[in-house]
Amino acid sequence: MAKDYFKQYPDENGFYQNYGGSFIPPELQKEMDKITQAYFEISKSHQFISELRSIRKHYQGRPTPVYFCNRLSQKYGGRIYLKREDLNHSGAHKLNHCMGEALLAKYMGKKKLIAETGAGQHGVALATAAAYFGLECEIHMGEVDIAKQHPNVVRMEILGATVVPVTHGLKTLKEAVDSAFEAYLKDPVNSIYCIGSVVGPHPFPMMVRDFQRVIGIEAREQFLEMTGELPDNVVACVGGGSNAMGIFSAFLDDEDSTLYGVEPGGLSMDYGQHAATATLGTPGMIHGFKCYLLQDEQGGPAPVYSVASGLDYPGVGPEHSMLKDIDKVKYVTISDKECIDAFYELSRLEGIIPALESAHAVAYAIKLAQLEPHRQILVNLSGRGDKDIDFVYDKYPVPALGKSKCD
Ligand SMILES: *Cc1c(COP(=O)(O)O)cnc(C)c1O
Repeated sequence: MAKDYFKQYPDENGFYQNYGGSFIPPELQKEMDKITQAYFEISKSHQFISELRSIRKHYQGRPTPVYFCNRLSQKYGGRIYLKREDLNHSGAHKLNHCMGEALLAKYMGKKKLIAETGAGQHGVALATAAAYFGLECEIHMGEVDIAKQHPNVVRMEILGATVVPVTHGLKTLKEAVDSAFEAYLKDPVNSIYCIGSVVGPHPFPMMVRDFQRVIGIEAREQFLEMTGELPDNVVACVGGGSNAMGIFSAFLDDEDSTLYGVEPGGLSMDYGQHAATATLGTPGMIHGFKCYLLQDEQGGPAPVYSVASGLDYPGVGPEHSMLKDIDKVKYVTISDKECIDAFYELSRLEGIIPALESAHAVAYAIKLAQLEPHRQILVNLSGRGDKDIDFVYDKYPVPALGKSKCD
Protein backbone atom coordinates (compact mmCIF):
# COMPACT_ATOMS: atom_id res chain seq x y z
CA MET A 1 0.00 0.00 0.00
CA ALA A 2 1.01 3.60 -0.42
CA LYS A 3 3.17 4.84 2.42
CA ASP A 4 0.92 7.78 3.13
CA TYR A 5 -2.30 5.86 2.56
CA PHE A 6 -4.26 7.86 5.12
CA LYS A 7 -3.16 11.15 3.56
CA GLN A 8 -4.00 9.89 0.09
CA TYR A 9 -7.45 8.47 0.87
CA PRO A 10 -9.78 10.13 0.76
CA ASP A 11 -8.58 12.87 -1.60
CA GLU A 12 -9.57 16.48 -0.90
CA ASN A 13 -12.98 15.91 -2.46
CA GLY A 14 -13.66 12.86 -0.35
CA PHE A 15 -12.95 10.23 -3.00
CA TYR A 16 -11.46 6.79 -2.57
CA GLN A 17 -10.54 6.33 -6.23
CA ASN A 18 -13.97 5.93 -7.93
CA TYR A 19 -16.05 5.94 -4.75
CA GLY A 20 -17.25 8.32 -2.08
CA GLY A 21 -17.52 12.04 -2.78
CA SER A 22 -20.48 14.18 -1.85
CA PHE A 23 -23.61 14.38 -3.99
CA ILE A 24 -26.01 16.46 -1.94
CA PRO A 25 -28.02 19.68 -2.27
CA PRO A 26 -25.95 22.91 -2.06
CA GLU A 27 -27.43 24.02 1.28
CA LEU A 28 -26.40 20.72 2.83
CA GLN A 29 -22.99 20.87 1.14
CA LYS A 30 -22.33 24.20 2.82
CA GLU A 31 -22.80 22.56 6.21
CA MET A 32 -20.71 19.51 5.31
CA ASP A 33 -17.85 21.81 4.30
CA LYS A 34 -18.01 23.46 7.71
CA ILE A 35 -17.90 20.07 9.43
CA THR A 36 -14.94 19.01 7.28
CA GLN A 37 -13.02 22.15 8.10
CA ALA A 38 -13.81 21.88 11.80
CA TYR A 39 -12.78 18.25 11.80
CA PHE A 40 -9.39 19.01 10.26
CA GLU A 41 -8.72 21.90 12.62
CA ILE A 42 -10.12 20.60 15.89
CA SER A 43 -9.48 16.87 15.80
CA LYS A 44 -5.74 17.39 15.30
CA SER A 45 -5.42 19.65 18.33
CA HIS A 46 -3.60 18.41 21.40
CA GLN A 47 -6.60 19.24 23.58
CA PHE A 48 -9.07 17.22 21.49
CA ILE A 49 -6.76 14.23 21.24
CA SER A 50 -6.03 14.13 24.96
CA GLU A 51 -9.71 14.52 25.89
CA LEU A 52 -10.71 11.70 23.53
CA ARG A 53 -7.91 9.53 24.88
CA SER A 54 -9.09 10.09 28.43
CA ILE A 55 -12.72 9.30 27.51
CA ARG A 56 -11.65 6.07 25.86
CA LYS A 57 -9.70 4.98 28.88
CA HIS A 58 -11.93 6.05 31.76
CA TYR A 59 -15.42 5.99 30.28
CA GLN A 60 -15.37 3.43 27.50
CA GLY A 61 -12.98 1.04 29.26
CA ARG A 62 -10.39 0.92 26.48
CA PRO A 63 -8.19 -0.75 25.49
CA THR A 64 -10.55 -3.67 25.04
CA PRO A 65 -8.73 -7.00 25.34
CA VAL A 66 -7.66 -9.45 22.65
CA TYR A 67 -8.67 -12.91 23.79
CA PHE A 68 -7.48 -16.34 22.59
CA CYS A 69 -10.39 -18.76 22.12
CA ASN A 70 -8.96 -21.94 23.55
CA ARG A 71 -11.95 -24.28 23.29
CA LEU A 72 -13.18 -22.94 19.96
CA SER A 73 -9.69 -23.37 18.47
CA GLN A 74 -9.36 -26.85 19.94
CA LYS A 75 -12.56 -27.91 18.27
CA TYR A 76 -11.98 -26.40 14.84
CA GLY A 77 -8.22 -26.13 14.54
CA GLY A 78 -6.40 -22.90 13.85
CA ARG A 79 -5.84 -20.31 16.53
CA ILE A 80 -8.80 -17.96 16.83
CA TYR A 81 -8.44 -14.63 18.66
CA LEU A 82 -11.16 -12.06 19.35
CA LYS A 83 -10.78 -8.29 19.60
CA ARG A 84 -13.40 -7.73 22.29
CA GLU A 85 -15.37 -4.69 21.13
CA ASP A 86 -18.33 -6.30 22.91
CA LEU A 87 -16.59 -5.07 26.08
CA ASN A 88 -16.47 -1.46 24.85
CA HIS A 89 -18.98 0.58 26.92
CA SER A 90 -22.55 0.12 25.67
CA GLY A 91 -21.58 -3.23 24.17
CA ALA A 92 -20.35 -2.51 20.65
CA HIS A 93 -17.82 -0.61 18.58
CA LYS A 94 -20.32 2.10 17.57
CA LEU A 95 -19.58 4.17 20.65
CA ASN A 96 -16.02 4.73 19.33
CA HIS A 97 -17.21 7.02 16.57
CA CYS A 98 -20.19 8.42 18.47
CA MET A 99 -17.92 9.73 21.24
CA GLY A 100 -15.63 11.24 18.60
CA GLU A 101 -18.51 12.87 16.72
CA ALA A 102 -20.05 14.18 19.94
CA LEU A 103 -16.72 15.56 21.15
CA LEU A 104 -16.34 17.39 17.84
CA ALA A 105 -19.89 18.73 18.31
CA LYS A 106 -18.93 20.04 21.74
CA TYR A 107 -15.85 21.83 20.39
CA MET A 108 -17.98 23.31 17.59
CA GLY A 109 -20.40 24.69 20.18
CA LYS A 110 -23.33 22.54 19.05
CA LYS A 111 -26.21 21.83 21.39
CA LYS A 112 -27.94 18.98 19.67
CA LEU A 113 -27.01 15.70 17.97
CA ILE A 114 -29.30 14.48 15.19
CA ALA A 115 -29.25 11.07 13.52
CA GLU A 116 -31.37 8.35 12.05
CA THR A 117 -31.33 4.77 13.22
CA GLY A 118 -32.54 1.52 11.67
CA ALA A 119 -32.22 -1.26 14.20
CA GLY A 120 -31.59 1.29 16.94
CA GLN A 121 -27.95 0.47 17.69
CA HIS A 122 -26.60 3.75 16.36
CA GLY A 123 -29.38 5.64 18.14
CA VAL A 124 -28.48 4.03 21.46
CA ALA A 125 -24.75 4.72 21.04
CA LEU A 126 -25.40 8.34 20.11
CA ALA A 127 -27.86 8.81 22.98
CA THR A 128 -25.13 7.48 25.28
CA ALA A 129 -22.62 10.01 23.93
CA ALA A 130 -25.19 12.83 24.21
CA ALA A 131 -25.84 11.98 27.86
CA TYR A 132 -22.11 12.00 28.58
CA PHE A 133 -21.62 15.45 27.06
CA GLY A 134 -24.95 16.92 28.21
CA LEU A 135 -26.12 17.48 24.63
CA GLU A 136 -29.65 17.10 23.29
CA CYS A 137 -30.21 14.09 21.09
CA GLU A 138 -32.87 13.58 18.43
CA ILE A 139 -33.12 10.19 16.75
CA HIS A 140 -35.30 9.70 13.66
CA MET A 141 -36.66 6.23 13.27
CA GLY A 142 -39.21 4.63 10.94
CA GLU A 143 -42.46 3.56 12.59
CA VAL A 144 -41.97 0.03 11.37
CA ASP A 145 -38.54 -0.13 13.03
CA ILE A 146 -39.91 1.45 16.22
CA ALA A 147 -42.36 -1.41 16.54
CA LYS A 148 -39.69 -4.04 15.73
CA GLN A 149 -36.93 -2.65 17.94
CA HIS A 150 -38.83 -1.78 21.08
CA PRO A 151 -35.98 -2.41 23.60
CA ASN A 152 -33.68 0.01 21.79
CA VAL A 153 -36.42 2.66 21.67
CA VAL A 154 -36.77 2.28 25.43
CA ARG A 155 -32.98 2.52 25.90
CA MET A 156 -32.80 5.75 23.89
CA GLU A 157 -35.62 7.29 25.89
CA ILE A 158 -34.11 6.24 29.23
CA LEU A 159 -30.83 7.84 28.09
CA GLY A 160 -32.69 11.09 27.51
CA ALA A 161 -32.99 11.10 23.71
CA THR A 162 -36.09 12.10 21.76
CA VAL A 163 -37.20 9.44 19.28
CA VAL A 164 -38.97 11.00 16.29
CA PRO A 165 -41.25 8.51 14.49
CA VAL A 166 -41.10 8.69 10.69
CA THR A 167 -44.48 7.88 9.21
CA HIS A 168 -44.14 8.22 5.44
CA GLY A 169 -43.02 5.83 2.69
CA LEU A 170 -41.91 2.41 3.86
CA LYS A 171 -41.39 3.89 7.35
CA THR A 172 -37.90 2.38 7.68
CA LEU A 173 -34.26 3.48 7.45
CA LYS A 174 -34.32 5.32 4.13
CA GLU A 175 -37.17 7.63 5.18
CA ALA A 176 -35.50 8.08 8.57
CA VAL A 177 -32.33 9.34 6.84
CA ASP A 178 -34.32 11.91 4.84
CA SER A 179 -36.18 13.02 7.94
CA ALA A 180 -32.97 13.41 9.97
CA PHE A 181 -31.32 15.51 7.22
CA GLU A 182 -34.43 17.68 7.02
CA ALA A 183 -34.39 18.30 10.76
CA TYR A 184 -30.68 19.07 10.66
CA LEU A 185 -31.09 21.60 7.85
CA LYS A 186 -33.72 23.45 9.90
CA ASP A 187 -31.10 24.36 12.49
CA PRO A 188 -27.54 23.68 11.31
CA VAL A 189 -26.13 26.36 13.63
CA ASN A 190 -27.07 24.62 16.86
CA SER A 191 -27.20 21.02 15.72
CA ILE A 192 -24.96 18.50 14.01
CA TYR A 193 -25.75 15.39 12.06
CA CYS A 194 -23.95 12.23 13.22
CA ILE A 195 -23.78 9.28 10.89
CA GLY A 196 -23.62 5.67 12.10
CA SER A 197 -21.04 4.05 9.82
CA VAL A 198 -18.33 4.76 7.23
CA VAL A 199 -21.01 5.87 4.76
CA GLY A 200 -22.75 9.07 3.63
CA PRO A 201 -21.23 12.16 2.00
CA HIS A 202 -17.66 13.32 2.74
CA PRO A 203 -16.36 13.84 5.45
CA PHE A 204 -18.31 11.11 7.28
CA PRO A 205 -16.63 7.99 5.87
CA MET A 206 -13.25 9.49 6.75
CA MET A 207 -14.25 10.78 10.20
CA VAL A 208 -15.90 7.55 11.27
CA ARG A 209 -12.93 5.51 10.00
CA ASP A 210 -10.48 7.71 11.86
CA PHE A 211 -12.42 7.40 15.12
CA GLN A 212 -12.62 3.61 14.66
CA ARG A 213 -8.92 3.21 13.91
CA VAL A 214 -8.34 2.78 17.64
CA ILE A 215 -9.58 -0.82 17.28
CA GLY A 216 -6.86 -1.75 14.80
CA ILE A 217 -4.09 0.19 16.51
CA GLU A 218 -4.79 -1.56 19.82
CA ALA A 219 -5.41 -5.00 18.30
CA ARG A 220 -2.24 -5.08 16.19
CA GLU A 221 -0.07 -4.19 19.16
CA GLN A 222 -1.88 -6.62 21.48
CA PHE A 223 -1.67 -9.45 18.97
CA LEU A 224 2.07 -8.88 18.45
CA GLU A 225 2.62 -8.83 22.17
CA MET A 226 0.68 -12.08 22.71
CA THR A 227 2.08 -14.10 19.82
CA GLY A 228 5.21 -12.34 18.57
CA GLU A 229 3.68 -12.42 15.09
CA LEU A 230 1.00 -10.80 12.99
CA PRO A 231 -2.26 -12.66 12.31
CA ASP A 232 -2.50 -14.63 9.06
CA ASN A 233 -6.11 -13.47 8.72
CA VAL A 234 -8.11 -10.54 10.05
CA VAL A 235 -11.87 -11.03 9.88
CA ALA A 236 -14.69 -8.52 10.44
CA CYS A 237 -18.36 -8.30 9.50
CA VAL A 238 -19.40 -5.56 7.07
CA GLY A 239 -22.67 -3.65 7.16
CA GLY A 240 -21.72 -0.09 6.27
CA GLY A 241 -18.23 -1.16 7.25
CA SER A 242 -17.13 0.87 10.29
CA ASN A 243 -15.92 -1.90 12.60
CA ALA A 244 -14.16 -3.57 9.66
CA MET A 245 -12.40 -0.33 8.60
CA GLY A 246 -11.43 0.16 12.23
CA ILE A 247 -9.54 -3.10 12.48
CA PHE A 248 -8.37 -3.39 8.83
CA SER A 249 -6.80 0.08 8.87
CA ALA A 250 -3.90 -1.15 11.02
CA PHE A 251 -3.09 -4.09 8.74
CA LEU A 252 -3.21 -2.49 5.28
CA ASP A 253 0.58 -2.53 5.02
CA ASP A 254 1.03 -6.08 6.27
CA GLU A 255 1.30 -8.14 3.11
CA ASP A 256 1.20 -11.40 5.07
CA SER A 257 -2.12 -10.67 6.78
CA THR A 258 -5.10 -11.42 4.54
CA LEU A 259 -8.15 -9.32 5.35
CA TYR A 260 -11.69 -10.70 5.08
CA GLY A 261 -14.87 -8.60 5.12
CA VAL A 262 -17.83 -10.82 5.88
CA GLU A 263 -21.17 -9.86 4.38
CA PRO A 264 -24.60 -11.27 5.21
CA GLY A 265 -25.60 -14.03 2.81
CA GLY A 266 -29.02 -14.10 4.48
CA LEU A 267 -31.45 -16.82 3.40
CA SER A 268 -29.99 -17.26 -0.08
CA MET A 269 -28.00 -15.33 -2.62
CA ASP A 270 -31.21 -14.58 -4.56
CA TYR A 271 -32.49 -11.04 -5.07
CA GLY A 272 -33.85 -9.52 -1.89
CA GLN A 273 -32.75 -12.35 0.41
CA HIS A 274 -29.27 -11.10 1.37
CA ALA A 275 -27.24 -7.90 1.82
CA ALA A 276 -23.98 -8.98 0.18
CA THR A 277 -23.21 -5.56 -1.26
CA ALA A 278 -19.49 -5.75 -2.05
CA THR A 279 -19.90 -9.34 -3.23
CA LEU A 280 -22.83 -8.88 -5.63
CA GLY A 281 -23.35 -5.12 -5.96
CA THR A 282 -22.40 -2.82 -8.82
CA PRO A 283 -21.19 0.80 -8.65
CA GLY A 284 -24.04 3.16 -7.85
CA MET A 285 -25.13 5.99 -5.59
CA ILE A 286 -26.94 6.05 -2.23
CA HIS A 287 -27.28 8.69 0.51
CA GLY A 288 -25.04 11.17 -1.29
CA PHE A 289 -22.00 8.99 -2.06
CA LYS A 290 -20.78 6.45 -4.64
CA CYS A 291 -20.13 2.85 -3.69
CA TYR A 292 -20.93 -0.73 -4.55
CA LEU A 293 -24.68 -0.93 -4.32
CA LEU A 294 -27.34 -3.60 -4.58
CA GLN A 295 -29.67 -2.02 -7.11
CA ASP A 296 -33.18 -2.49 -8.38
CA GLU A 297 -34.07 -2.15 -12.06
CA GLN A 298 -34.22 1.64 -11.80
CA GLY A 299 -30.76 1.86 -10.22
CA GLY A 300 -32.20 2.61 -6.78
CA PRO A 301 -31.30 0.67 -3.62
CA ALA A 302 -32.62 -2.90 -3.82
CA PRO A 303 -34.48 -4.56 -0.94
CA VAL A 304 -32.00 -6.30 1.35
CA TYR A 305 -32.26 -8.78 4.18
CA SER A 306 -30.15 -10.29 6.96
CA VAL A 307 -30.90 -12.02 10.25
CA ALA A 308 -28.57 -9.35 11.70
CA SER A 309 -30.37 -6.06 11.33
CA GLY A 310 -27.13 -4.07 11.67
CA LEU A 311 -25.89 -5.55 8.40
CA ASP A 312 -28.88 -5.05 6.10
CA TYR A 313 -27.75 -1.97 4.19
CA PRO A 314 -27.82 -2.00 0.35
CA GLY A 315 -24.68 0.15 0.10
CA VAL A 316 -21.24 -0.18 1.64
CA GLY A 317 -18.55 2.33 2.62
CA PRO A 318 -16.66 3.93 -0.29
CA GLU A 319 -13.31 2.86 1.15
CA HIS A 320 -14.44 -0.77 1.17
CA SER A 321 -15.52 -0.34 -2.44
CA MET A 322 -12.00 0.76 -3.33
CA LEU A 323 -10.34 -1.95 -1.21
CA LYS A 324 -12.38 -4.51 -3.12
CA ASP A 325 -11.29 -3.12 -6.50
CA ILE A 326 -7.60 -3.17 -5.57
CA ASP A 327 -8.05 -6.61 -4.00
CA LYS A 328 -6.65 -5.56 -0.63
CA VAL A 329 -9.68 -6.99 1.22
CA LYS A 330 -11.54 -10.15 0.25
CA TYR A 331 -15.31 -9.92 0.61
CA VAL A 332 -17.08 -13.16 1.45
CA THR A 333 -20.51 -14.19 2.74
CA ILE A 334 -21.99 -16.15 5.62
CA SER A 335 -25.60 -17.33 5.60
CA ASP A 336 -28.16 -16.80 8.37
CA LYS A 337 -27.84 -20.44 9.32
CA GLU A 338 -24.03 -20.36 9.59
CA CYS A 339 -24.36 -17.18 11.65
CA ILE A 340 -26.76 -18.78 14.13
CA ASP A 341 -24.54 -21.85 14.45
CA ALA A 342 -21.55 -19.64 15.25
CA PHE A 343 -23.68 -17.65 17.72
CA TYR A 344 -24.32 -20.83 19.71
CA GLU A 345 -20.80 -22.18 19.29
CA LEU A 346 -19.13 -19.08 20.73
CA SER A 347 -21.69 -18.93 23.55
CA ARG A 348 -21.21 -22.56 24.56
CA LEU A 349 -17.50 -23.01 23.97
CA GLU A 350 -16.28 -19.66 25.26
CA GLY A 351 -19.07 -18.13 27.36
CA ILE A 352 -19.30 -15.16 25.03
CA ILE A 353 -22.69 -14.35 23.45
CA PRO A 354 -21.89 -12.41 20.26
CA ALA A 355 -24.09 -9.94 18.42
CA LEU A 356 -25.61 -11.59 15.35
CA GLU A 357 -23.61 -9.16 13.23
CA SER A 358 -20.35 -10.26 14.86
CA ALA A 359 -21.37 -13.93 14.66
CA HIS A 360 -20.96 -13.61 10.88
CA ALA A 361 -17.26 -12.89 11.40
CA VAL A 362 -16.93 -15.73 13.92
CA ALA A 363 -18.59 -18.12 11.46
CA TYR A 364 -16.09 -17.23 8.75
CA ALA A 365 -13.18 -17.60 11.19
CA ILE A 366 -14.43 -21.12 11.99
CA LYS A 367 -14.29 -21.91 8.27
CA LEU A 368 -10.74 -20.55 7.95
CA ALA A 369 -9.64 -22.42 11.08
CA GLN A 370 -10.61 -25.72 9.53
CA LEU A 371 -8.26 -25.14 6.59
CA GLU A 372 -4.95 -25.29 8.52
CA PRO A 373 -4.05 -26.25 12.10
CA HIS A 374 -1.69 -23.34 12.82
CA ARG A 375 -3.41 -20.51 11.05
CA GLN A 376 -3.72 -17.44 13.33
CA ILE A 377 -7.02 -15.66 12.93
CA LEU A 378 -7.96 -12.34 14.50
CA VAL A 379 -11.71 -11.64 14.57
CA ASN A 380 -13.21 -8.28 15.37
CA LEU A 381 -16.03 -9.17 17.76
CA SER A 382 -17.93 -5.95 17.06
CA GLY A 383 -20.60 -6.32 19.75
CA ARG A 384 -22.34 -8.41 22.37
CA GLY A 385 -25.49 -10.39 21.73
CA ASP A 386 -27.76 -9.34 24.61
CA LYS A 387 -29.93 -7.43 22.14
CA ASP A 388 -30.45 -10.61 20.09
CA ILE A 389 -31.16 -13.27 22.72
CA ASP A 390 -34.98 -13.11 22.70
CA PHE A 391 -35.13 -13.23 18.92
CA VAL A 392 -32.70 -16.15 18.62
CA TYR A 393 -34.25 -18.09 21.50
CA ASP A 394 -37.65 -17.75 19.86
CA LYS A 395 -36.76 -18.39 16.27
CA TYR A 396 -33.80 -20.78 16.51
CA PRO A 397 -34.38 -22.80 19.69
CA VAL A 398 -31.43 -23.74 21.87
CA PRO A 399 -29.73 -26.93 20.66
CA ALA A 400 -29.71 -29.90 23.06
CA LEU A 401 -27.05 -29.68 25.78
CA GLY A 402 -23.74 -31.22 24.84
CA LYS A 403 -24.71 -31.15 21.21
CA SER A 404 -23.86 -27.96 19.46
CA LYS A 405 -25.65 -26.93 16.28
CA CYS A 406 -22.46 -27.43 14.30
CA ASP A 407 -22.10 -31.14 15.16
C1 LIG B 1 -24.08 -1.71 13.59
C2 LIG B 1 -23.29 -2.90 13.88
C3 LIG B 1 -22.51 -3.53 12.89
C4 LIG B 1 -22.47 -3.07 11.47
O1 LIG B 1 -21.96 -1.81 11.27
P1 LIG B 1 -20.53 -1.55 10.59
O2 LIG B 1 -20.55 -0.10 10.31
O3 LIG B 1 -20.47 -2.39 9.34
O4 LIG B 1 -19.50 -1.96 11.56
C5 LIG B 1 -21.74 -4.61 13.26
N1 LIG B 1 -21.76 -5.11 14.52
C6 LIG B 1 -22.51 -4.54 15.49
C7 LIG B 1 -22.47 -5.14 16.85
C8 LIG B 1 -23.30 -3.43 15.21
O5 LIG B 1 -24.06 -2.88 16.17
